[in-house]
Amino acid sequence: MKPQTPQTRLTTQKAILETEIAQFSSFFTAEELHHKIKKEFPHLGIATIYRYLKTLVHQNQIHSYQCERRTIYSTNTKNHSHFLCEKCNTKSHLHLKNIDSLKQNLRGKMCHFQIDITGICEDCLGK
Ligand SMILES: [Zn+2]
Ligand SMILES: [Zn+2]
Ligand SMILES: [Zn+2]
Repeated sequence: MKPQTPQTRLTTQKAILETEIAQFSSFFTAEELHHKIKKEFPHLGIATIYRYLKTLVHQNQIHSYQCERRTIYSTNTKNHSHFLCEKCNTKSHLHLKNIDSLKQNLRGKMCHFQIDITGICEDCLGK
């Protein structure tokens, strides 16, 4: 067997990461990805994963959002939005599909979006 050069090792690592990322059907975190590959690549640290995810975001292959003070990623879902109640501080997720009116105000091409809406939730309104 030929010893692996650093270059091929890097390529294998990348391929594994790519495969694992493709398997997430929804949002995922760097920790979740790390957990999945830890068994096979115990030496692959979380810092490497963060770096790799950052590259993918820059290459427009995945999208990143902020959720509960964490960065979450998605391969295909192009928005992540919250509704925060000012009275009880409850945060819920919104599923927005159509934001054509927003797009009209853009000078460029949209990739993904995150909207945090603040208001008063149904529960608090009913009180
Ligand atoms: Zn994006
Ligand atoms: Zn969220
Ligand atoms: Zn509320």
